[in-house]
Amino acid sequence: MKPNVKKILAQAEHICAQKDIRLTESRRHVLSIIAGSSKPIGAYDILKSLSQKMDNPKPPTVYRAIEFLQAQGFIHRIESLNAYVTCDAHHHHTGSQFMVCDDCGKVTEAHLCDLPTPLLDKTKKENFKLSSWNVELHGLCAGCQ
Ligand SMILES: [Zn+2]
Ligand SMILES: [Zn+2]
Repeated sequence: MKPNVKKILAQAEHICAQKDIRLTESRRHVLSIIAGSSKPIGAYDILKSLSQKMDNPKPPTVYRAIEFLQAQGFIHRIESLNAYVTCDAHHHHTGSQFMVCDDCGKVTEAHLCDLPTPLLDKTKKENFKLSSWNVELHGLCAGCQ
């Protein structure tokens, strides 16, 4: 288990308590599984790990937990991998950028709160109402080059 799993769980609990929402057992387990994974983890593997922590969990349990964790900003979905990572930022944000290593699979979140100016200008010009954004940069990490 990665040492930061405890920290991530404590932080999520703190935020949930502040917002008066429940971090249920399944939500808590799913967050700890994602936080403990060294690479982005997909729903199927989350379900497999969850079955070691809970009795016979069903796929909807995993999907509902993922949906909740995403809505709270605790995790992000890496679209190109169809997998999830925990958020590196200490606050909710609607957009993010990820650097994905195609060799070892490591994902680094380059946290930005705002869309980069050229893209933001473009949305303004097109009168496009932005709700969320996601940029995935593929390549090789420092260790894999
Ligand atoms: Zn984030
Ligand atoms: Zn790598």
